[in-house]
Amino acid sequence: RIADPARPTWVRVDLDAIRDNVRALRAIAGVPLMAVLKADAYGHGAVRAARAALAGGAMALAVATLGEARTLREAGIGAPILALGYTPPWQVAQAARLGIVLTVFDPDTARACAAAAAIGLNVTMHVEVDTGMARTGVSVEELGPFLRLLTDLPGVRVEGLYTHFADADAADLSAAEAQLRRFCATLDAITSAGLRPPIVHAANSAALLRLPGARFDMVRPGIACYGLAPSPHTPLPPTLRPALSFHAEVAQVRDLPPGAPVSYGGTFVTRRASRIATIPVGYADGLRRAPAWREVLVRRRRAPIVGRICMDYAMIDVTDIPGVRRGDQVTLIGSQGDERLTADEIAGWLGTISYDVVATILPRVPREVG
Ligand code: PLP
Repeated sequence: RIADPARPTWVRVDLDAIRDNVRALRAIAGVPLMAVLKADAYGHGAVRAARAALAGGAMALAVATLGEARTLREAGIGAPILALGYTPPWQVAQAARLGIVLTVFDPDTARACAAAAAIGLNVTMHVEVDTGMARTGVSVEELGPFLRLLTDLPGVRVEGLYTHFADADAADLSAAEAQLRRFCATLDAITSAGLRPPIVHAANSAALLRLPGARFDMVRPGIACYGLAPSPHTPLPPTLRPALSFHAEVAQVRDLPPGAPVSYGGTFVTRRASRIATIPVGYADGLRRAPAWREVLVRRRRAPIVGRICMDYAMIDVTDIPGVRRGDQVTLIGSQGDERLTADEIAGWLGTISYDVVATILPRVPREVG
């Protein structure tokens, strides 16, 4: 049990797991690793996760937004940080002042980089090329002319070129392989034209693990650093372990007769004399209301959530679990004894992926280091 938690509801983050996972991924990749820490390090707490990743040998960090990058800088983290997300022209000078490497795929942002360089700021960029994700990035056809435009802009430094896989975690790897071939062909063309930036990268976790040809000069994993598999088709090496667990303690236990409605709307009605425990965690903590989170662990057993999940509470049926008391530890993600609730199982209940389960545990839940 952690010492003095700020709330009887908490996430525990095993920083050693993040460090060890990064070290193992770095060894598998055989090239430098940039740890992806966007969305508060997928809900794990970005500053501590960043330090753990750097301790595990990460060479650089990646975030989605400038605000995320600023949080890391303000915490004193001096490692290279790449902002993967869209940076509009009006944010460029701010990014340069923070020493953030920008993703650029738009001529207006590129010109803003040159303007920032003209007032003495150090501007470094990575160009994103879209090879099949259709999200952001310069098209394959536009890449050569775009790189030439950048070469002509005074003061800007194009340090990197990257692409992002849409399908490296799919059962069938053919789409990812086609994307990789497209990226390689594009790379050949710009290399022949003398336009290849020094650092080329592509591999998210799934590609790092399944497409050795996608490792290039650096890999860029997120989810695997946290010990979670990108998909059921991408099992993790057994040495990797999940870093995050989610807990609360029982707030109250009550005995109800048959026929008693539980929670808003009375959508659940007891069918027998029931013992119902209330836990102080609700949808404003990230315990998804619909489709609903289904089970938790208490006293090393699974207990179903019954009735609607409230903003700050949920009720669980502990009739078949003897001895449940106020103060008992409940596990929402993680294990108790031989029972285990994984982010993947929960993602199955919620119709989503493990990324979404961990990244949407809301900031109200304190992150404890364990
Ligand atoms: N690179 C980019 C551009 C991303 O958007 C992401 C996250 O989705 C990653 C790398 C890391 O992906 P993953 O968490 O699947 O390893």
